Amino acid sequence: MDIYRLPALVDNYIFLLHDPERNMAAVVDPAVPEPVLQKLKQLGAPLVAIFNTHHHADHVGANRSILQKFPQITIYGGEFDRGRIPEQQVFLKQGDRVKFGDCTAEVLFVPGHTYAHIAYYFAESGDLFCGDTLFAGSCGRIFDGTPTQMLDSLSQLRALPDETRVWCAHEYTLNNLRFALTVDGDNLDLQARMVAVTAARKNFEPTIPSTIGLEKQTNPFLRWDRTALKSATNYSDPLRVFTKLRGMKDIFH
Ligand code: ZN
Ligand code: FE
Repeated sequence: MDIYRLPALVDNYIFLLHDPERNMAAVVDPAVPEPVLQKLKQLGAPLVAIFNTHHHADHVGANRSILQKFPQITIYGGEFDRGRIPEQQVFLKQGDRVKFGDCTAEVLFVPGHTYAHIAYYFAESGDLFCGDTLFAGSCGRIFDGTPTQMLDSLSQLRALPDETRVWCAHEYTLNNLRFALTVDGDNLDLQARMVAVTAARKNFEPTIPSTIGLEKQTNPFLRWDRTALKSATNYSDPLRVFTKLRGMKDIFH
């Protein structure tokens, strides 16, 4: 499975999956149609599926227009997003398996950013499409989910193999690391990552995908049990550490 990262809107990434042997494509979280249609044309591959992680407009905005062009596709989303994802046909829950060509994604229920958010985990290739749950250096804001849900979801993602590639839906990494350094500034891995990400962004290079291993080393939202984050928040209970960090990040500019 080849994965193409298509920049969209201000800082979104749409991911186009291509199975070269069967010559078929699928798309994760199409915010807008143009880059998707253009890439499909270039590959000469028909689209078979849309995989949505959650209902926000910058993730489902092109569902309808893409469906008009490719009426045969299947549109997947979480079971609790019924009625919120345009044209959704399949309603997925934790542990469901979704086929794309020879590849299989396991569905992870990861609420918190929204109460219905899911992720698609391709265990065989080690690719995780996690929408706005886990970001490179941070996590999604809490909209209609709860901090308890988000902490559980991040715990689930943290348990995946270190080499898992994290394909998150936004290029927020530089700002995320600026915040991370304010709460975990002595972390040498984090300092080194900041140097690398600063250089990459200077050249307009993407910082996605990340890996679970790198996130465990440098993302404060996966490090609620570390001494530095306990000191930075003045709490030791994981939920309190997490909730305090999320609140600090919400007002960080
Ligand atoms: Zn969102
Ligand atoms: Fe988003």
